[in-house]
Amino acid sequence: RSTGKSADKTTTSSSSHQRMAKSSHSPQSDFGRLVWAPDEKDGFVLARVVDIATNQLTCDREDGKGQVTASYDAVFAADEDLKKTVEDNCALMYLNEGTLLHNCKARYRKRKIYTYVANILISINPYEDITGLYSKEAIKSYRGKSLGQMEPHVYAIADKAYREMRRYKESQSIIVSGESGAGKTESQKAILRYLCENWGGQTTTIQQRLLETNPILEAFGNAKTLRNNNSSRFGKFVEIHMGNDGLVAGGFVSHYLLEKSRLCRQTKGERNYHIFYQLIAGAPDSLYKKLMLMSPNKFNYLKHGTSQFFAHPTAKPTVASERLSDATRKSGFARDPIVDDQADFQRLAKALAGSGFTAEQQNFIWSTVAGILHLGNITFEEQVNDTKGGCKVDPASDLSVSAAATLLGLDTGNLQLCLCTRIMQATKGGVKGTLIRVPLKVGEAAAARDALAKAIYSRLFDWIVAGVNKSIPFENSAYYIGVLDIAGFEFFAVNSFEQFCINYCNEKLQYFFNERILKQEQELYDKEGLNVPKIEYADNQDCIELFESPNGLLKLLDEEARLPKPTSQHYTTSVFEHNKDHFRCALLRSLFESTEPKKMTGSKLQSTSVAAKFNSQLTVLLEKLKITGTHFVRCVKPNAEMKALCFDGASILSQLQCAGMASVLKLMQKGYPSRTSFADLYATYKKLLPADLARLDPRLFCKAFKN
Ligand code: ATP
Ligand code: MG
Repeated sequence: RSTGKSADKTTTSSSSHQRMAKSSHSPQSDFGRLVWAPDEKDGFVLARVVDIATNQLTCDREDGKGQVTASYDAVFAADEDLKKTVEDNCALMYLNEGTLLHNCKARYRKRKIYTYVANILISINPYEDITGLYSKEAIKSYRGKSLGQMEPHVYAIADKAYREMRRYKESQSIIVSGESGAGKTESQKAILRYLCENWGGQTTTIQQRLLETNPILEAFGNAKTLRNNNSSRFGKFVEIHMGNDGLVAGGFVSHYLLEKSRLCRQTKGERNYHIFYQLIAGAPDSLYKKLMLMSPNKFNYLKHGTSQFFAHPTAKPTVASERLSDATRKSGFARDPIVDDQADFQRLAKALAGSGFTAEQQNFIWSTVAGILHLGNITFEEQVNDTKGGCKVDPASDLSVSAAATLLGLDTGNLQLCLCTRIMQATKGGVKGTLIRVPLKVGEAAAARDALAKAIYSRLFDWIVAGVNKSIPFENSAYYIGVLDIAGFEFFAVNSFEQFCINYCNEKLQYFFNERILKQEQELYDKEGLNVPKIEYADNQDCIELFESPNGLLKLLDEEARLPKPTSQHYTTSVFEHNKDHFRCALLRSLFESTEPKKMTGSKLQSTSVAAKFNSQLTVLLEKLKITGTHFVRCVKPNAEMKALCFDGASILSQLQCAGMASVLKLMQKGYPSRTSFADLYATYKKLLPADLARLDPRLFCKAFKN
């Protein structure tokens, strides 16, 4: 194998240092030098070195706001020409976190949201539509172009994946990552549109259906959160399958970890899944009546968050006014350019029909969704004179019981019975006895109701995804391009099992990124005897082992769940006993200490199966990623306020660091960002060259070519 620039590369190898490395520098040479010094607010501030001590540098801020003193490690060389921006950060004179952040910022100001670091695309959410950025013309213009020939774009990454799929006859995946609101789903949609538009072929139905998957999945799996008005509350891997002719042949969606807790309760200011509001806002009158719908603030499952509807900024409030809650009427419609409950309902119905969901199936969906809402309105009260402390349905919610039963196709009496009791099988001397009904207490019945609602909704979601998949069959597939859109690391005031799983998944993906980009790259340099210094990067193997080892968090969680009386305290103790070395970090410890005991007991069976299921899903996903060519899109959220073109430097820097970009920069500066085999180079160029050169064997040919 030869190393060097491939057709896809525009990278240069910079010879200059990136940090103000003490060892490699005589202090005098740093004096007066323009640098990026750390700044709490902007990430970095421009400054000049004025004092050089043994362990630290002191710099005068260029903005005149005093001095910064920092360790050598935290200060980076700056380019004297600050106006210069480059499409690929690797083309900068100094490759470091400071210049990376500055370049991204300067480009972002000019509404250039995309920047490369070698083959990796950084995408910073503009929070506004940039004219022409995703036009049909743009889609056509990126077709067949190598990375670097055109402005950086997510289309260029899609095209690269497509070309490599064709060239190497190998499936590809594009891993889109970033925190909530960074623009992962919008990137995934852009990639899908790009591939369908350019290589949709004759079968417009399949193409159309592939594009319809998004409104469908978003209606049931997305919700307004404090971080993103249209936040995906599940992960997905969307495979776009291509035939031998290189045209779109079908698709397949795998989904992961739909957030279930949201169904019964939302944080203040957040919403339940869009579908509930869409149905209430958009159902035709007859359907609205049939489903016994009311305004959102009349449903327990909707009223704890915000019961606001969404409307497009340009839309007039046309939702039938009697359907609006008082709160909504007072505050008006929540505005968002891409979420509009009433219009989205029409779009959803059309998409479902287009994806082969029959009228009967659609009715089943609407009834189930409404049934869940009525189920949530059922409340319980203590049975008077009941020695066992049992409960019954509160007569005030009789109507809700009958509505839920009717819509879910259940018998009213049976539903009542099932909610207020549980079935137990007595065991004597190891022999199973008869089944008996045990009455539930008020709180237990409410938990049973919520568990039922969650189970129904998550099965409905599975069923819808299966239906969507059926509509985009891929029998004639030769290869696929998979796009992974999965929530980034989450860290809230209270973290639940869902954050545990999502963060575990992200550790695995980061590990994969490290392996693919950093470790394998360096191993290759070693193997080829290239003189590239070793790059240190934050290895997270330890963390993964903590989850996966025989006495790791997942295994112990399953074991705990199998105990007759599992508690979070006991789990915590056994985790510490088996993994004390890992828990030196007090913060991580506190995460476990804050786990509510109730949650653990209540979801006993669930946590076993969910953790185990997710673990095996992850294994399958990573196997897929390992055997495909991979491309990375790192999405960045520019500010917490979701404001257009507002660049919060410190937060962006930390996102870039978490995404491993700093390590990549180091590697790219010293190494060779892409490579191609002798045989491929030979195959690509032999037609263009004189016959006497083309006669050579690939290795010699490349040598001659290089000279
Ligand atoms: P989550 O993890 O919560 O699902 P996400 O990373 O998928 O977040 P998106 O839903 O893709 O985030 O983006 C959030 C919002 O940001 C979008 O609804 C849209 O308003 C805006 N946005 C994202 N990307 C772009 C873009 N390229 N151009 C214009 N607006 C964008
Ligand atoms: Mg999303």
